[in-house]
Amino acid sequence: MAYWGDYHTHTVYSHGHSTVMQNVERAAEMGLKEIAITDHGFRHMMYNVRRTAFPDMKKDVEEARAKFPQVNVYLGLETNLSSRKGNIDILEEDFDNLDLIVCGYHKFVRTDSFADYWKFFIANMAYNITKISTVRLRNRNTDAYLRAIERHEIDILSHPGNGFPADLIEVSRACKFYGTYFELNGKGNYVSDADLEKMCGEGVQFIVDSDAHDLERIGEVSKPQAIIDRVGIPYELIANWEKLPKFRSRIKKGLYE
Ligand SMILES: [Zn+2]
Ligand SMILES: [Zn+2]
Repeated sequence: MAYWGDYHTHTVYSHGHSTVMQNVERAAEMGLKEIAITDHGFRHMMYNVRRTAFPDMKKDVEEARAKFPQVNVYLGLETNLSSRKGNIDILEEDFDNLDLIVCGYHKFVRTDSFADYWKFFIANMAYNITKISTVRLRNRNTDAYLRAIERHEIDILSHPGNGFPADLIEVSRACKFYGTYFELNGKGNYVSDADLEKMCGEGVQFIVDSDAHDLERIGEVSKPQAIIDRVGIPYELIANWEKLPKFRSRIKKGLYE
């Protein structure tokens, strides 16, 4: 298997259809060396992991690690971008309990303030309905991404640009600067080929993930693979191609040699 890890998978703790154990078993069957369980963050209105369920998730991950010691299992979370200031929906102390931080924009997320409700939640909801974006919205969203990447130890920016118009070149530069991987997502692509080419020219580091919500989709990356082939993204820029990525939050915690 050319991709050594899948760092974005969901389970029944949010709206996936498989259990932690099943995801890890599947990863083992596929010969993956690493897998991350990254269910939706706490402030998603419909698919959030409940804080009270987190200890059970942790226990499930520990059981899966014991049963499949050949797979390195990360307990992560796909946190939600929740304000124009780049807030994300975990607390400082949550970082210690998480092995990996994925972050993305999702539509149905509780915002922090009334102003964010209008300028972030409603403004992007309107974009998602009409597909019409304004320069102001794009600038605001770009700012939200940049501040989030700057302020938090985000390891992977999930599906950048999905439902969220922004200057993705600017965002990818911040990713490179702070050590956040720019995801090529197994479910879809929201970046133009021309922009991806520019990012390659600047040496942005990508990561290829399935974003699986079903067991059979673990490690399924044919969509990003087609983009890699078409654009000619060099494999040395793909953090999980025949190597294991080093994650920003884990560098900060001093977990690497
Ligand atoms: Zn997502
Ligand atoms: Zn996801």
